[in-house]
Amino acid sequence: MNGKKRKKIKTIRIDVDKCNGCQGCEVICSAFHATPRYSSTNPARARIRVIRDPLADIYVPVFAGPHITAQCAGRDRYTIDGKEYDECAFCRAACPSRKVFQEPDSALPLKCDTCESDPTLAEPMCVQWCLAGALVYEEREEEADEEESVEELSSGLEALASKHGWPQVIDAVHRMSTKG
Ligand code: SF4
Ligand code: SF4
Repeated sequence: MNGKKRKKIKTIRIDVDKCNGCQGCEVICSAFHATPRYSSTNPARARIRVIRDPLADIYVPVFAGPHITAQCAGRDRYTIDGKEYDECAFCRAACPSRKVFQEPDSALPLKCDTCESDPTLAEPMCVQWCLAGALVYEEREEEADEEESVEELSSGLEALASKHGWPQVIDAVHRMSTKG
């Protein structure tokens, strides 16, 4: 024992050669995260976007990553099979420079949670719905530093705050800490 904690790493492996651009992943993600659950579908609310170029038969699923408050100065521009894609097309961040991975109504950032909001799921919803087998879910364990655990806790709290607001989160933590 070296005293280090173990943490679970969740990965969704993306095989772009198998993706056919059906957008089933976007539909089920938006439905699963609707309130109430499954009450609506809107790919603009999904935490996954499929960059599509049907004429070139190119489809690239991109998962929503962390929210950043400032635009980055460096920009990526990809050329695949001779076609140039939009600036930042494959970036995972919700950032102020574009509308991707933002709630259409509230503009709150969207982030893939690997569907942790339902611990009974055997696999994330988009993986289950990808009949082409382009998304494959994998789990492994790694050693984690104490600092990393604190960082994970902070980002978890930030995600809750962006959804419910800090006053509600602080109130909930206070109630839990004084319980019993
Ligand atoms: S459900 Fe699968 S095949 Fe369809 S767009 Fe999404 S990743 Fe591609
Ligand atoms: S893993 Fe879950 S939250 Fe993430 S994109 Fe897929 S369905 Fe959406």
